[in-house]
Amino acid sequence: MFSGRHPEPGHAARRATGASRVDPRRLRLRMVEGLARQLAQRGVEAPAVLAAMATVPRHLFVEEALRAHAYEDTPLPIGFGQTISQPSIVALMTAMLAPEPGMRVLEIGTGSGYQAAVLAAMGCAVFSLERMPELHTATRALLQELQLGAIRTYCRDGTRGLPLAAPFERIIVTAGGPEIPAPLLDQLAEGGILLIPVGSRPRTQRLLRVRKRQGRTDTEDLGPVIFVDLVGDHGWRH
Ligand code: SAH
Repeated sequence: MFSGRHPEPGHAARRATGASRVDPRRLRLRMVEGLARQLAQRGVEAPAVLAAMATVPRHLFVEEALRAHAYEDTPLPIGFGQTISQPSIVALMTAMLAPEPGMRVLEIGTGSGYQAAVLAAMGCAVFSLERMPELHTATRALLQELQLGAIRTYCRDGTRGLPLAAPFERIIVTAGGPEIPAPLLDQLAEGGILLIPVGSRPRTQRLLRVRKRQGRTDTEDLGPVIFVDLVGDHGWRH
């Protein structure tokens, strides 16, 4: 369903612009139609998510050599052993997160910046944390260039959250850890939703949805997923 690690074609190529043989907009709309069908099969309706995904140019978030595949439902390598999630998992996770315009959303695992861009396109104020300095720097430059909305990026261990900007109405973790990091639960606003892949072994997780109500948390299991490792103080240590 999701990716493991991939070999890494040069990351620098990602930002180069090149003539494309196909019209990205048409491919993107076709991708969104496919996603709408997939969500409907699961009984999920998420028009705001699909509308956002129809506007974000996913082909600019992948390496130039892989652009022809940007609108297929597949994860792709983004360099440094990391991946951009496949469109259907982005659609499903964003739908399960139920973000609303104006909400403050914390994302752990900026990666390519695509998920952050989708949230910003939905009108959220996004705070996105990435632990790998090279990825953080390249993605920050790309997001600045594309001007896709209110996205602040930080290079740090996301398992500790972002205490100075807390609380957050939504928190989305796009890497899988052994447990729910306690700081993230602390930084979740009352009535808020936290989504995180959790598993006792690396790269096989269950997607958990946690809601905070009157200071208590309810956790729901939304099914199996495969994400790259969440590495940090409250994640895997390697
Ligand atoms: N949301 C991304 C997918 C990212 S893949 C996208 O749309 O492209 C997961 C990312 O999480 C990787 O870039 C990895 O480096 C990052 N990551 C792993 N552990 C982390 C941690 N503790 N804090 C911040 N980022 C982390």
